[in-house]
Amino acid sequence: MSNFFKGLFSNDIGIDLGTANTLVFVKDKGVIMSEPSVVAVYNNSKKVLAVGEKAKRMLGRTPGNISALRPMKEGVIADFEITEAMLRYFINKASSHLRKFTPPRVVVAVPSGITEVERRAVKESAIRAGARLVFLLDEPLAAAIGVGLPVWEPTASMIVDIGGGTTEVAIISLADVVYAKSIRVGGDKIDDEIIQYMKRAYNLLIGERMAEEIKMRIGSAFPLREELVMEVRGRDCVAGLPKTLIITSQEIREALDETFNKITDVIKEALENCPPELSGDLVAKGIVLAGGGSLIRNLDLRITDRTLIPCFAAEAPLLAVANGTGAVLNDLGWWMENS
Ligand code: ADP
Ligand code: MG
Repeated sequence: MSNFFKGLFSNDIGIDLGTANTLVFVKDKGVIMSEPSVVAVYNNSKKVLAVGEKAKRMLGRTPGNISALRPMKEGVIADFEITEAMLRYFINKASSHLRKFTPPRVVVAVPSGITEVERRAVKESAIRAGARLVFLLDEPLAAAIGVGLPVWEPTASMIVDIGGGTTEVAIISLADVVYAKSIRVGGDKIDDEIIQYMKRAYNLLIGERMAEEIKMRIGSAFPLREELVMEVRGRDCVAGLPKTLIITSQEIREALDETFNKITDVIKEALENCPPELSGDLVAKGIVLAGGGSLIRNLDLRITDRTLIPCFAAEAPLLAVANGTGAVLNDLGWWMENS
């Protein structure tokens, strides 16, 4: 078939099923959507009310008969039915970008730690949601491809993907994951630590949104050339009234010290477990950071400081996995034969 006809009938999409955000990549178009991995359901009937952006707006403010859930929360599939509803929503929404008549082939990036049962469930869910063919891709491999690491070469690359629920560290060589370890520490945990700190230090109750805003606006993992300040609003636990105060980037960094150490420890563990012939590659090429959590200021510097190996932040860390699925779509035949 000529490329023209192939293009006419190709209907391929890649999905990054993340703990915080789900992204959809359409072949030849790029990332066409990114929405929170949240599903709102009625408690008694379990019927789905909303998915994505709309469901996220309900988080924390649902009436008694509705729950807003994050089915992938800790890098494992907490609820198959709800995950399926989420996949269906994303595949359906992507359909408007696809050609009619041919059901799509779908590459889904899944956490490397999920079980065989979960893998099968994702595959079957995607088929029921309208896919013609499903290929599961290890998330760290997708992230490594997405940030442009030379995964096909016989040289080691290390990718650290810091998402909402997990941090996944992987060493990759010859298009395969040589070592992978995942910990349940990511952006959510950081938000949580900020909430705890504000309560401990100031008796101030703040919500998850405020905590995330603090992280994004002044969060840092290593001293900044110019430290930052920010005004925080919350409710005083003692007086019970709204209160506003000013906090600094130094104090937030100190509050997050232990959490950052957990991330650097799991990287060190990976380096210690790396086959010796691959260690040298890592020293020479360094570590690449991806995922939204890697946007914390100076995390790369902290990792370099603790591991003595150069560490680099990817350019578009939130898109890494989705872009990786997109690259695999271009060579789907090869991937299906070789993995
Ligand atoms: P997942 O792959 O688990 O869905 P993502 O890679 O989408 O996760 O990253 C989501 C996490 O990134 C959230 O915890 C979010 O708060 C965090 N995040 C996004 N932007 C920033 C930023 N500028 N600074 C710090 N953290 C960020
Ligand atoms: Mg991710």
